Amino acid sequence: MTVRAPIIDPSGRRIHYVRLSVTDRCNFRCVYCMPECGVEFIERKQLLSFEETGRLARVLAEMGVDRIRLTGGEPTVRTGIVQLIEAIAEARSSGLREIGMTTNGWNLSKLAQPLRAAGLDRLNISLDTLDRANFTKITRTDRLDVVLEGIEAVCAMGWLPLKINVVVCKGVNDNEPADFVERFADLPVTIRFIEYMPFGEARFPLVPWSDVRAKIEARYRLREIPGPAGSGPANYWKVEGTRVEVGAIGALSRQFCQACNRVRITSDGMLKTCLAYEPEMVSLRDVMRDGATDDQLEAAIRRGILRKPEAHITTEDGANPFEGHMVQIGG
Ligand code: SAM
Ligand code: SF4
Repeated sequence: MTVRAPIIDPSGRRIHYVRLSVTDRCNFRCVYCMPECGVEFIERKQLLSFEETGRLARVLAEMGVDRIRLTGGEPTVRTGIVQLIEAIAEARSSGLREIGMTTNGWNLSKLAQPLRAAGLDRLNISLDTLDRANFTKITRTDRLDVVLEGIEAVCAMGWLPLKINVVVCKGVNDNEPADFVERFADLPVTIRFIEYMPFGEARFPLVPWSDVRAKIEARYRLREIPGPAGSGPANYWKVEGTRVEVGAIGALSRQFCQACNRVRITSDGMLKTCLAYEPEMVSLRDVMRDGATDDQLEAAIRRGILRKPEAHITTEDGANPFEGHMVQIGG
């Protein structure tokens, strides 16, 4: 097995987590993520192929990346997603330890089994509301039942613990945090309440964790789980009397840039070192298609990492918003 030097960014942070977008397409149109009319989608031949993705995963693993999370767009709409996971899973022999996926859950009742069999370790499911009308308002689709069936299919497989991501938007679903706890009370589920981040044209006043917490504490007692919990940006609390944990992710009110350990790769192979901005991205796809050796690919990754900013400068009132649309970046 080839071992390469670890990836260290200009602020001295070790990068060992990659969020890999596998498509910019999606079967939902969430109001905070994608315009109703969609975006200009990337042509299929511009996407990283399975071979290119597998190779990139291996070289990244040789550089110390131990976690890859597939995202998008909606990763389950990528044709051949099961084979794509198999291609990435080959990087386990180079040090990759965990393959995760963030999904809207629509396709899980049919895909959960094959995804698991292909080597997917962890699932995060995004679900912002338990109310059908609200679901339609947020996702612009009427598929709440299908998503809930998908979650049940995952639980029935015993594929737990499971994380559920809830983006909290003022006046839309900010009355629901305790309902989420109640709904999943008997399952080892972590419900992560995510602060809205201002992308594109959509703007929602963000709901701080203190408000979400107050809503939960009106019904339940919380006990803080001492951190740092793993390597992520969330803080966690146990909800007493249930099997549920809740987490708070606040990119604006609780900025976690200092502990950033990740980069993103878009579905067409651009290395995006910061979710918020990117002055000039390196195209790892073009480097590979130009015939680069693995050492040259490694050098291109290191060139891109040099551009990683120290922190974002977006404020809670939405000033200096994040660039682009989340669906194109890979959240
Ligand atoms: N389609 C998949 C899904 O929805 O889980 C994966 C891609 S989606 C872009 C990844 C995550 O980003 C989801 O949990 C979604 O709720 C979150 N997200 C999208 N836009 C956001 C925004 N403006 N602020 C905060 N989170 C956002
Ligand atoms: Fe699609 Fe996920 Fe964005 Fe919703 S959040 S539009 S499900 S990519």
